[in-house]
Amino acid sequence: MKLPLVSAFLKTLPRYKESTDGRQCVVKCHFCGDSTKSDTGHLSIKIDVDEGEGLLFKCFRADCQHKGILTSSILQDMGCNDLDTLLELAGYNKTINKSIEKGFNVKTNRNYQLVNLSISDNKKKLDYINQRLGTNFTTEDLRRFKIQLGLYEFLRVNYINKLAFDKKYCDIIDEWTISFLSMYSDYLICRDISSKEFLGKKYTMYRISGKPNPTDMKLYCIPTEISLLDPNPAEINVAEGAFSIIGAYLYGGYGKTEPNSLWLANCGSEYLNTILHVIKQYGFLDIRLNIWSDSEIGLKKYEKLLKELNGRLHLSSMDVLYNEADNDFGHPKDHISTKKISLI
Ligand SMILES: [Zn+2]
Repeated sequence: MKLPLVSAFLKTLPRYKESTDGRQCVVKCHFCGDSTKSDTGHLSIKIDVDEGEGLLFKCFRADCQHKGILTSSILQDMGCNDLDTLLELAGYNKTINKSIEKGFNVKTNRNYQLVNLSISDNKKKLDYINQRLGTNFTTEDLRRFKIQLGLYEFLRVNYINKLAFDKKYCDIIDEWTISFLSMYSDYLICRDISSKEFLGKKYTMYRISGKPNPTDMKLYCIPTEISLLDPNPAEINVAEGAFSIIGAYLYGGYGKTEPNSLWLANCGSEYLNTILHVIKQYGFLDIRLNIWSDSEIGLKKYEKLLKELNGRLHLSSMDVLYNEADNDFGHPKDHISTKKISLI
């Protein structure tokens, strides 16, 4: 069985040649750039597959040896921009195993417990959140939003003895920050809420255990249900800060109840990295993008972002939302007046 659109795309690649039985093809290897000496392609791809079998590929150059199962994200890297072709492959791969299309570097979530004990420090922090967002959260509600009030109680409950910073610094984090558990549960994103910014910056990234890696994603994400099988475009909502995205989620008046919507806070990362990372991780092919902007950031920045995203993914819509009543969306409902500007 062949995937007609995928097969047709592969035929357009340089050095394409089919095996005599038509079950394999070779193309120029885009992982290593292939040999410059010959005109033969070295990346072999299985194109005629049996049911349940992936489109395996392997480069036969000794210094490359790249191999795996062809996914829509690899096909995109090879230059395929046609949505139907990508969907054909993604759809087929899902019949083999749902996890294939999530990519090979899928990070697994750790299973840390969040606890928010009812002690006086926590009470003050909870009041801060409720005042800031105009909510009535209990410590139980915080679990749903992956919010942790105290550093030390978190470490204690999860049997983590080693501190990521020296004790004095951790004391300040414990006393003066509210933490948001990162997307892959490997960081606490600690937001300084002291009036004097004792930590010297808004966010401190606390690596929960193990060694930090420069490629770690320190994003905050409100837990929602994502289904890759949903034919509608996924909705990605991004704000700069964690409080802002929670405010947008609660009061922004759109999307919250829609299936397949993601709610993310950059917490210091660039919008471009955040968005590209997430579409790759989830294998989204078609998205609607909503940016819940800080008021001080002009539209120019997002027009530039749109240019950078175009051609790398399919955007069904892109809206920039401003809160005309305050600096961002991290405020009570009566402090939110949303103005929407559609870029697509
Ligand atoms: Zn190669």
